[in-house]
Amino acid sequence: MEKFLIALDQGTTSCRSVLFGADLEKIDQEQKEFTQYFPKPGWVEHDAEEIWACQSATLSALLARNHLKPEQVAAIGITNQRETVVAWDKQTGKPLARAIVWQDRRTAEYCRDLRKRGREAMVRRKTGLVLDPYFSATKMRWLLKHDPAVKSAARSGRLAFGTIDSWLIYKMTEGNRHVTEVSNAARTMLMGVRACAWDPALVKMFGVPRAALPEILASDSLFGTADFPGLQGVAIHGVAGDQQASLFGHRCFRPGSQKNTYGTGCFMLRNIGGKYIAPPKGLLGTVAWTIRGRTEYAHEGAVLVGGAAIQFLRDGLKLIDSAPESEALAESLDGNDGVYFVPAFAGLGTPHWDAEARGLLIGLTRGTTRAHVVRAALESIAYQSQDLCLAFDGGSASRRTRNARPAKRSISIKTLSVDGGASRNSFLMQFQADILGAEVRVNESTEITALGVAMIAALGCGLIKEKKDLLRLKIPLRVFKPKMAAARRRELIRRWNRAVERAKGWNA
Ligand code: ADP
Repeated sequence: MEKFLIALDQGTTSCRSVLFGADLEKIDQEQKEFTQYFPKPGWVEHDAEEIWACQSATLSALLARNHLKPEQVAAIGITNQRETVVAWDKQTGKPLARAIVWQDRRTAEYCRDLRKRGREAMVRRKTGLVLDPYFSATKMRWLLKHDPAVKSAARSGRLAFGTIDSWLIYKMTEGNRHVTEVSNAARTMLMGVRACAWDPALVKMFGVPRAALPEILASDSLFGTADFPGLQGVAIHGVAGDQQASLFGHRCFRPGSQKNTYGTGCFMLRNIGGKYIAPPKGLLGTVAWTIRGRTEYAHEGAVLVGGAAIQFLRDGLKLIDSAPESEALAESLDGNDGVYFVPAFAGLGTPHWDAEARGLLIGLTRGTTRAHVVRAALESIAYQSQDLCLAFDGGSASRRTRNARPAKRSISIKTLSVDGGASRNSFLMQFQADILGAEVRVNESTEITALGVAMIAALGCGLIKEKKDLLRLKIPLRVFKPKMAAARRRELIRRWNRAVERAKGWNA
């Protein structure tokens, strides 16, 4: 009988269910957006029940359209937005509060407080992360302190915490399993990155009841068997955080190989091999995956607002009707005419880690048009990604600006492999190649994250024997070569850095 794989990809803005053949060719997919809640400035929430309803609707539609029977599905893989915290009641299986999303900044003050109390070095040493609201631990602590339902569930031992992987596994198994996957657990700020186990000192510091935390499993484990209509008894056999799944999908298996994903945020990850190495300044150290008992690690740089800047133009400012429209508008101009947009809506990530930075639009004149704003937003995605590349090479934009040295380009990579929704924008990809002075290779399969976790599930269930067998799969590429003169690139970057300096600390 022909076998198939199903990947659930629970992203920040939408849920996807993707069907792959045993050869890992994509056959079909179903996608649906869900509601974003912004109850206060800097707060971002999701409704965990709605996420489940949305995810299961895409899965049911995919199963029905392809007339699949459970015995035809070799395994299910799950990949997901990371760090987002769900709190639910172990008895009723119902969420106790809205999920606090990775972009949410409500714990910025608490992070500042911990830093003042000298806790940053310890947290970084143990977890590879920086003390920023981005990660799950401070969000859990906030719920425990401020949400009456969470507080009371904690007191009565009924509280379950989980990242989205944990929540989806729980729902897929009808509440039978409260587990998480190691690359997801690495983002909670509660897991020791070397031991890959909950760290007692961190769990205590953040005041999280140990019994509320799920069990940590390897990425290719048997996470449970599905109790989902039409998929009863199918093994969930691969799970990874979305960026780790994308790293795997790009087949960055060798130390030094690297990718960038242009989604809601932008995430650049570099495989650093089987031994954990403390990351350079401004970058994160994290687990890439544990497969066949071997843990591999990655360094990561994060842009908190990437494609979301385009969503903001569409939904917030209503400057455009659709994201793809931004391409022609940007191309209608010869240059940016000095207009810069720093989309620090949620503070700044790598290399600045400034939770108090806020968005800024600068360089406006009476000649400024909608096209300038749209172009500046697209360009900001490329500048921020080049800041990530610089951080990987040990130089950060902020350091250079402070020392007022001329911007020195020290990006070592010659090619960058990329994916994600915004990588479909040709203006952005050409501008990225120009600003990096490096070739940008866009994977035409924008479902590389789902592909990555389908690959892990294929290894988990034994459908594919070895990681190296995955290298045979051909993914079509679109290549963008740098064309811009070095002097112009330097000048653009210099002005971008000045704009970023002005956005920093605005909310402090
Ligand atoms: P996620 O998985 O984080 O939800 P996706 O990889 O689906 O994200 O990418 C969606 C993001 O890409 C959105 O923020 C959207 O604004 C942006 N995007 C999609 N298409 C384009 C486009 N043609 N040009 C620019 N941005 C785009």
